[in-house]
Amino acid sequence: MNLCRLVYYSERNMSVALDIAQLIAACHKNNSKTTVTGMLHFNGTHFIQVLEGGRADVSFTYHRIAGDPRHQKILLLSCMDVRERLFPGWSMGLHEGMTDHTRQIYLRYFATEKVDPLQVSVESLLDVMQDLSAEL
Ligand code: FAD
Repeated sequence: MNLCRLVYYSERNMSVALDIAQLIAACHKNNSKTTVTGMLHFNGTHFIQVLEGGRADVSFTYHRIAGDPRHQKILLLSCMDVRERLFPGWSMGLHEGMTDHTRQIYLRYFATEKVDPLQVSVESLLDVMQDLSAEL
């Protein structure tokens, strides 16, 4: 079965309550059943998430997530077949917050720490996510 990797960017919906611990518990519960793995970064206002797994599992998971009112303005940045997972060990790794070290990681790959998802390359975003996962 082919593996695929999906990357999206979204904005927290401030008018809906968000409990990150509860959210990540649902990720672990559901993703471990389907062998979807990945990484979620929440900087306080925006999410970047990478989902990796079988095509159907990633697709169904993404469509469920895309309908979740806890976030909005979801931009699907990439969905492609891949030979191997970047985040094999995480049913969903969570990196939360924007510390000085997080800023340094952003600045390693981007000209500024403000990421414009319409401008930046997905490869660079994946580099950021891998560096963030190394902090966990
Ligand atoms: P449930 O067991 O029904 O819900 C889990 C908990 O989340 C419950 O306690 C419930 O109160 C709460 N919850 C559910 N929906 C909402 C809502 N709309 N508003 C407020 N609280 C709610 N799901 C995955 O399976 N895998 C993922 O990788 C994943 N990533 C996500 C990333 C983001 C940024 C967001 C916002 C959501 C993500 N979700 C993910 C959650 C997904 O959108 C669904 O809520 C979840 O998959 C529903 O699964 P369930 O029916 O088993 O959860």
